[in-house]
Amino acid sequence: MQLGAMQVDAIADGTFSVHPKYFGGGVAGDARPEFFGRDNLAWLPIGCFLIRTGERTVLVDAGLGPDQDELPHGMRLVGGQLFVGLGALGVGAGDITDVVITHFHTDHVGWLFDLAAEPVFPNAMIWYGAADWDYFVNGPGDIRPHIRDGFLAHADRQHPLTHDTTVTGGITAVLTPGHTPGHLCVSLESGPAQLLLLGDAITCPIQLAEPTWHSYGDVDPTTADRTRQRLWTRLETIPGVGAHFPALSAGQVLPPSRWIATAVNGDQLQ
Ligand SMILES: [Zn+2]
Repeated sequence: MQLGAMQVDAIADGTFSVHPKYFGGGVAGDARPEFFGRDNLAWLPIGCFLIRTGERTVLVDAGLGPDQDELPHGMRLVGGQLFVGLGALGVGAGDITDVVITHFHTDHVGWLFDLAAEPVFPNAMIWYGAADWDYFVNGPGDIRPHIRDGFLAHADRQHPLTHDTTVTGGITAVLTPGHTPGHLCVSLESGPAQLLLLGDAITCPIQLAEPTWHSYGDVDPTTADRTRQRLWTRLETIPGVGAHFPALSAGQVLPPSRWIATAVNGDQLQ
């Protein structure tokens, strides 16, 4: 999509098949069959976003990489497609000037470093929430050894963030902790056009209809819930898209006042 002067492209690195139990142990295994329609799983993308401003080529999240991951209840992540998408857009690894990582879970950092812990994007600065470094690189968080080694060996090309920070004009990292301690969203703004890249702060729009549903891997579920509530309110004024939203489509929350207006206009209530 064109967002003012920015070109924004969604790229799936692969597929994340999600069981109802992803959203909490108390969620019934046969909940919402219209969503978990195939083998009791919803097939969601492992999303990355490429933003081209004319001067900078910014990648938000680095997928799972050439890897796969098995989770309980038959859930599985299969990655490896990011460079197919980048290639189709005419973008190579050396063109990326910045990589903004929403958080350090394996399906968001996979392409940062190769198995020898060398940078896959040789010219890129890497931006992330400093608290995720503490939790995943130095702490108990689960991280692939070559990714940890890469973070440790190439710290000179990284920006660990402790507060909301402008990456470049119109691209701002906004700290949104909970899913992980250093989770951040990326706010895009060009003229009047705005878009919020949500990472995994909201996994899926279905959580709007199911406010008690958490996300598997929420490091601090209470803070994650609070952050999610705040973001739903934010999405009443600007559109947003998460890394695992179906089809990586952006959406907006209709505020209650607009429900009435829509009903008066005779359109279908949403
Ligand atoms: Zn994720």
